[in-house]
Amino acid sequence: MPFQPTHPIPYGRQHITDADVQAVADTLRSDFLTQGPKVAEFEEKFAAYIGARYAVAVSNGTAALHLCALALGVQPGQRVITTPITFAASANCVRYCGGEVHFADVDPATALIDLGRVRQLLESHPPGYFHGLIPVDFGGLPVDLEQARQLADEFGLWIIEDACHAPGGFFRDSTGLEQWCGNGQLADLAIFSFHPVKHIATGEGGMITTNRADLYEKLLLLRTHGITKDPAKMHRHDGGWYMEMQTLGYNYRISDILTALGISQLQRAEEGLARRRALAARYDAAFAPVPAVRPLAAAPGHAYHLYVIQIADRKGLYDFLRTRQIFAQVHYIPVHTMPYYQELGWQPGDFPHAEAYYEHCLSIPMFPALTDEEQQYVIECILEFVA
Ligand SMILES: *Cc1c(COP(=O)(O)O)cnc(C)c1O
Repeated sequence: MPFQPTHPIPYGRQHITDADVQAVADTLRSDFLTQGPKVAEFEEKFAAYIGARYAVAVSNGTAALHLCALALGVQPGQRVITTPITFAASANCVRYCGGEVHFADVDPATALIDLGRVRQLLESHPPGYFHGLIPVDFGGLPVDLEQARQLADEFGLWIIEDACHAPGGFFRDSTGLEQWCGNGQLADLAIFSFHPVKHIATGEGGMITTNRADLYEKLLLLRTHGITKDPAKMHRHDGGWYMEMQTLGYNYRISDILTALGISQLQRAEEGLARRRALAARYDAAFAPVPAVRPLAAAPGHAYHLYVIQIADRKGLYDFLRTRQIFAQVHYIPVHTMPYYQELGWQPGDFPHAEAYYEHCLSIPMFPALTDEEQQYVIECILEFVA
C-alpha cells in the first residue's frame, strides 16, 4: 500500500527531543527565568559555532534587526538598500528608525540580491546618498559578502547580513577560504532568528553576531533600556543600587528558559544541517530529469532553510499539494508590492525579476525531521502534478 501521511507535512518545522525538554525543565527549577547564565552560555556557544567574536541574544530576529539599525545610527533621511525577496522585517528595521528603504532586484538563478544592480544603483547617485546594505542569505544560500564588502568600502556603506536562513552556511572567498554566514569577517553585523521554522528553535528568539567591539557595547546597552549596571562604564557612582540609563533602549531580552532550549538545539545543529543537505541532494536528483520543475541554484555551502522550486502553474501545484496533505509555502511576496511599501511609492513593475520569481516559486518540505518516506511521497506528488 502506498504511503499516506497521517498528518499534514509542513514546509518547515521544529524538532524537539527529550533532552530539549529536560534542558527547559531544569532551567524552570533554577534561579533564573529572565536573562541569566543560560543567555550568556548560549551567546558564547553560538558565537563559537558561527565563528564570530561577539554574540548578543535577543527576543526575536526582528528585534535583532531593529537593534542593528539603532547601533549603526540609522536616522530619518538615511537610505538603505535591501532585497525585495525577503521577509518584511529585513526592510522594516530601517523604517523603525525613520530611514528610507530602497531595493535592488534579485538574480533570477538564486533569488539573492543582485550585487551588480546594487553597484548600478550606487553609481547612479551622488556619493553619500546611501548609508547601508542589508543582504539576505535567502533560503540558506550565502550572499557573496566579499563582493558586498568591496561595494560597501567603495561607497561608504555599513552591512547588516540577514543570516536568518543560513546558520552553518558558507561561501568560498577569492582566497578559497570558507566564510561562514555571520562570522563577522565581512559584514559589520549579522542577525539570526530562532523561530521554530528556522534551523535552531527557541520559540521566539534572535541573535546578533559581530566582530566589532564598539557595536557590541552599543547592542548590550540598547537591549536593556539603555541601562548599564557595569560601574566601569558609569558617569557617576551614587551607591551599590545605582544603575545608569545612558541612551534610549528597549527590553529586547530573551529568557534563560528559551536559551536553555537554544543551547540544547545548538548541539544538534551540524546534524540538522547535514540532514537538510541530504534532503536537498535527493530533491535535486529527483527533479534533474524533469524540466517542468526548476529548483533554485545549489551550492556546497548552502544551508537549506528552504528548498525552493519554480514551476509554471505554481498556484495549481500549491492547491494540489494541499489536497495531498502537503503544506508548501511561498517565500516571499516581494516586499515592495506590499500595500505599506506601495504607500511609500514603490510599485509593481519596479523589480521584474523579483516579481517573476514570486509568480513561480514554491517552498516544499525541508526540515531535518522529514522522513525519507515522507520526502519520497512529496516528490511523487509533485511528479504526478507535472506529468
Ligand atoms: C524569520 C526571519 C526574520 C525575523 O525573525 P523573527 O524571529 O521571526 O522576528 C527576519 N528575516 C528573515 C529573512 C527571516 O526569515
